[in-house]
Amino acid sequence: MAPWQTPLERVLLKELTACARLSYERGWCFGTAGNFSLRLRPELMWQSPSGLNKGNLQPELFLPIRVQDGALLDPLRSLVPSLEMPMHRGIYLGRPKARAVVHCHPPKVVKRSQQVGLEGLSFVGAEMIKALGAGDYNGQVCCPVLPNLNKSEMECVAEKLPSLLEEVALVILAGHGVYAWGQSPLEALAVVEALEFLCQTH
Ligand SMILES: [Zn+2]
Repeated sequence: MAPWQTPLERVLLKELTACARLSYERGWCFGTAGNFSLRLRPELMWQSPSGLNKGNLQPELFLPIRVQDGALLDPLRSLVPSLEMPMHRGIYLGRPKARAVVHCHPPKVVKRSQQVGLEGLSFVGAEMIKALGAGDYNGQVCCPVLPNLNKSEMECVAEKLPSLLEEVALVILAGHGVYAWGQSPLEALAVVEALEFLCQTH
């Protein structure tokens, strides 16, 4: 039987849809770009469906996915999970405390990731790096940039991703966008906001 959303999952999925709408309104999810997920139970994640406008997501549209192997637990629905679901799975496999993942295409992040290539994005001496985990504004934060993935590479990325993650709660695909995670949807969105601000100003 397909799993139900618990009351807490429902509340946090509402918060996640608000984050998706904000991302859309800021121009970070134009078209049907962007994908979002929530994982409160170790074995179950709720994934946004493929092909929908992210300004209009609703909690009941999210699809239940088994974290271990990516199986869709409600196959009778007409919706299918986002093609980028394996990135979300990989993050949950590698970061047991992550409860929400936000993925979008902020323009400055996309542009900077094309300029720096795979050496990664480093930020030093800026107040906003504290939002990415630096203890002090004089410190340094390194954000991993991985090559973008085609469809077949995306399908098998989940098991490889945990070893590629670093301390900072985000990973960037070059020329594509950022995946950020946190204990809540708003915490994950705040990571994206800090990164986009740093890419605009640094
Ligand atoms: Zn994307």
